Amino acid sequence: MSLSDTPNPLVVENFIGGSFVKSSKYLDSFDPSTGEVWAQIPDSDPTEVDDAVQHARNAFPMWSKTTAAERAKILIKIADSIEENLDKLAQAESKDQGKPVSLAKRMDIPRAALNFRAFAESICHHLNISNCIPEMGCMNYTVRNPVGVAALISPWNLPLYLLTFKIAPALASGYFILPLPLFIILMLFSNYNYIEIGNCVVCKPSEITSVTAWMLCKLIKDAGLPNGVLNMVFGTGSKAGEALINHQGVNVISFTGSTNVGRHIGQVAAKSIKKVSLELGGKNAGIIFEDADLSKVVPATINSCFLNQGEICLCTSRVFVQRTIFDEFVQRLVKETKNLKVGPPIEDVFMGPLVSQVHLEKVRSYVEIARKDGARILCGESVDELSLPAPYQKGYFIRPTIITDLSDSSACMQEEIFGPVVCLSPFDSEEEVIERVNNVKYGLCSAIWGQKGDRLLRVAHQLHVGTVWINCWLVRSLDMPFGGMKESGIGREGTSHSLELYTEETTICYKFQ
Ligand code: NAP
Ligand code: MG
Repeated sequence: MSLSDTPNPLVVENFIGGSFVKSSKYLDSFDPSTGEVWAQIPDSDPTEVDDAVQHARNAFPMWSKTTAAERAKILIKIADSIEENLDKLAQAESKDQGKPVSLAKRMDIPRAALNFRAFAESICHHLNISNCIPEMGCMNYTVRNPVGVAALISPWNLPLYLLTFKIAPALASGYFILPLPLFIILMLFSNYNYIEIGNCVVCKPSEITSVTAWMLCKLIKDAGLPNGVLNMVFGTGSKAGEALINHQGVNVISFTGSTNVGRHIGQVAAKSIKKVSLELGGKNAGIIFEDADLSKVVPATINSCFLNQGEICLCTSRVFVQRTIFDEFVQRLVKETKNLKVGPPIEDVFMGPLVSQVHLEKVRSYVEIARKDGARILCGESVDELSLPAPYQKGYFIRPTIITDLSDSSACMQEEIFGPVVCLSPFDSEEEVIERVNNVKYGLCSAIWGQKGDRLLRVAHQLHVGTVWINCWLVRSLDMPFGGMKESGIGREGTSHSLELYTEETTICYKFQ
């Protein structure tokens, strides 16, 4: 699997029942740094989706006879194989998405491997609570069985990273832990087979960034995952995605993407009472108090606003700075931002191009709205000074853009832009900034910077978001629950939370004779 010896354009195939299957129709997929077609992906239709779901259902009884240890062994093999193919996967992710190769090597691909490793390890050591009622001669415990077939739908910004964060727990899920005495009793007196079982999955990656998901199918097949346990259908959300979420054979939907599509998926899931997890958009704020160490906070803020071209759901897009240090902060932030290297993602750059022409136009349109709203654009936008070499002149580049002088009600302060654009605003008091940070429809995350521990914690506890970082950003432990509130989503993912999503819990109350 080498990028250099693959046909141009690369032809991606669906992965159904353990086989790579050609489609009757294909869609072009573009290299965002040149605007050229570099891959073609299946434009899967409902028949192909149905085929994938049927294979997942057929594989389910067989997969359900595996033990956690057997599943963990395969998942760890997949993790090893992702690490062995780090360079190739990082190059493909960069070519498909636009992110610097160096970032994909440092963040996306290692994290994809960690997703498999962490969930594999967790199913072997998971703890559960049991409860004993001795006076009634009963012992309670719970069993978690897999839900069945999971539909996993992922976005384009962290393609392999986010898709594997769904695949690994879905395949791993299903466990039960007994209190030791009951375990011994059941082992001795029953012939119950201690099966711990996993789900089968059908994935639909974003049509804009499908290539690394397809490469993953090859690694998964080589790692020995039984046929049909994982299926991948490529294509559009409106056709393949819609067929998948509506399929009667799907029991749980895990979706990461925009709030509008999430709202629709929630409605579809409600009609057929499917379990659903929605990880959606954000309008995340940074809060910088006057006692913050600017030599650390300025570079950290640049990272939180512009990493991965600002195309991370957790990126900061509003920064509230205490008025006493506002001017100094702005001046330092703008100076350092102007020095960021933007250019071809294969080079040593901080930012590559945005993911698509459509997205570039959307991001630019927000800068125009800000201008009409009377804002000052302190730096960014234009790419003229980049002097890009010929193949990159049609790439979807934009410089990191800093805006100020906007009211909180303006679109750029309220709506998700999902690009390298940040709005700065001064604040005076703690109460004021809490109220302003919470005054958006989203609730994904925030980052607070300063030194007074009591103030930092007081503020953190009053923010309506799923994650608050204090003096850091994007430090993600897989063990911690991850997700959003308000229109940023429903449900949490993370080691135990994901395992809960992909299982149903049954309470067993055992009365001794
Ligand atoms: P999107 O347009 O909502 O698409 C996400 C996925 O859903 C894609 O695979 C898409 O397929 C598919 N889809 C679209 N319509 C569908 C339908 N009717 N039925 C089933 N599937 C459908 O989001 P995006 O533009 O790819 O990603 C950016 C958004 O994701 C941002 O809002 C960002 O904040 C959010 N995000 C959230 C998190 C989080 O953890 N909270 C993480 C990353 C990104 P197509 O690509 O073919 O349209
Ligand atoms: Mg692409």
